[in-house]
Amino acid sequence: MKTVEQEIKLKGIPISRGIGIGSAFFFTFADDEAPDFKISMQDIDLEVSRYQLAIEKSRQEILQLQLKLKDEYIEEGVDILDTHLQIMKDPLLTTAVENEIRQTRKNALFVFQVLIKKYQKRFQSIKDPFFRERFKDIQDISRRVAGYLRESVRVGLAEIPYGSVVIAKELSASEVAEANSENIYAFITENGGVASHAAIVAKAKGIPYVSNADIGLIFEKMEDNPLIVDGRTGDIIINPTAKTLDFYKNVYKQVKGHLSKLQKESSLSTETFDGYKVKLSANLEMVNEIDHIRAQGNYGIGLFRSEYIFLSGEDFPSEEVQFEIYKKLVEKLSGLPIVIRTFDIGGDKQLKNHSSSAKGNSFLGCRALRYFLNEKEIFKSQLRAILRAANYGDVSILFPMVSTLSELLEAKELLEEATQELLKSGHEKVCKLKVGCMIEVPSAAIISDLIANECDFLSIGTNDLVQYSLAVDRGNQSLQKYYSPTHPGVIRLIKMVVSEANNHEVPVSVCGEIASDPRFIPLLLGLGVNEFSLASRHIPVIKNAIRNTSIVAATKLAEKVLTLSSSEEIMKLLTDEYRNNVPEDCFYNY
Ligand code: PEP
Ligand code: MG
Repeated sequence: MKTVEQEIKLKGIPISRGIGIGSAFFFTFADDEAPDFKISMQDIDLEVSRYQLAIEKSRQEILQLQLKLKDEYIEEGVDILDTHLQIMKDPLLTTAVENEIRQTRKNALFVFQVLIKKYQKRFQSIKDPFFRERFKDIQDISRRVAGYLRESVRVGLAEIPYGSVVIAKELSASEVAEANSENIYAFITENGGVASHAAIVAKAKGIPYVSNADIGLIFEKMEDNPLIVDGRTGDIIINPTAKTLDFYKNVYKQVKGHLSKLQKESSLSTETFDGYKVKLSANLEMVNEIDHIRAQGNYGIGLFRSEYIFLSGEDFPSEEVQFEIYKKLVEKLSGLPIVIRTFDIGGDKQLKNHSSSAKGNSFLGCRALRYFLNEKEIFKSQLRAILRAANYGDVSILFPMVSTLSELLEAKELLEEATQELLKSGHEKVCKLKVGCMIEVPSAAIISDLIANECDFLSIGTNDLVQYSLAVDRGNQSLQKYYSPTHPGVIRLIKMVVSEANNHEVPVSVCGEIASDPRFIPLLLGLGVNEFSLASRHIPVIKNAIRNTSIVAATKLAEKVLTLSSSEEIMKLLTDEYRNNVPEDCFYNY
């Protein structure tokens, strides 16, 4: 380890809890930007060869293109490409870049782009328009070379070296879904909101995550020292002193110890200390997380975000592929229930080949059920796959992003059509499934009495309910202060839904991220919720929160909350109450 020069503490927004101590690994950057970071001494030769390879690959690409143009008799194009090949031999693009990489120890893409910018300035000052135009050739070459350099920088998150703290401008849900949680100790990003799907997946994988960080400063100051990420507080420490490092290693141990103590209590019943029973189940994104969930205890799946089976792919999987996946999950659950939510694409979950989900503001556009009511055949193939898998266990179906009653009725009709199609094609037994509706759009919350009449259960998706009722993009951390699940408006909506569900004797659960925040548990219990579905890694903490409260206190707390008028007051009350009930929780550390 290099001698410690200067310890720097940065503050970001805590996204996923836990402590991560590891080596910085710079991941993705915006397309028009070159990452600016230092290469370690032993990797300099590798970086130079990466550059040489990018030049060679670009050269081969131009030669191929030339052959094509020759075949098509486009002589002018052939000549232009000849010029490109000449420019690429210029020492300014070869030895000069290589020397600069060695001297500055900066990454190849950054060095290359700095040089191209210098060229640009020189060409812009040339009076003769013919020569000024020649810069276009250089730009063209630059794009080609930069493309190859970026490609090799962009390894998938599955291939990140052991012990890394991954630093990126932004991470998508599918990128995090690919992440190898054995190797990645933490994430740091510049952009990314608490309730984004990337955040949800990081939590599901138990990877600490802080966003809204000044990653430029990390590039600049980072030496070959460990980087500390505190996903509980949002603290990031660059070049920590030995004392700081020891402190955090100790916190890491305490947090681990606390969680494993709670884990050992998994056989205790889930009830408040005055005996009010509560049902907990797990949210599932990546299918391979099922084994981890099974190891936690006898929890069913209260929300399977089925779109994750293909999110990093190009297209929807066939009925057969889906059936095999759902069946396997159902079998692994050995009779425990699973709620399969139909695909929720759009918003921050886009499919490469299906741009219609991304038109305009995609969170307010053709997302989830809206998209699939326009793509009935794809939708029915999912419904058939779910119906078939239901023969192997306890399966319910859940429709996301319902905003009007007619959408729910249409989805139910399509479920009936899918049933008839299966019967016609020779399936002897097709189960009648329980049908649930997500309440995540304010209009659905307001008509929850009508919705409750038409389905078997409700599931409150508070991530979107907060986004849509407060008009705040859930993925944008710069709007964080507006994204407030304790807003009195949100709490009133939840109360309304729970009351209507109870009036109609329809079970209601909360499956948004607040169900994994122990501060919200007494409030939600007090409002009448007795089912929660959440990231399985948080189940022990939530169970402990339930066991440390009473329904009498929770009811009083809810009554008090309903008299308050601001998010801040409510948050403070919930935090104080939790600190009081569970002072030893160092995982949350409020
Ligand atoms: C929600 O909106 O709260 C929810 C559970 O769905 P998702 O986070 O997948 O949008
Ligand atoms: Mg949602």
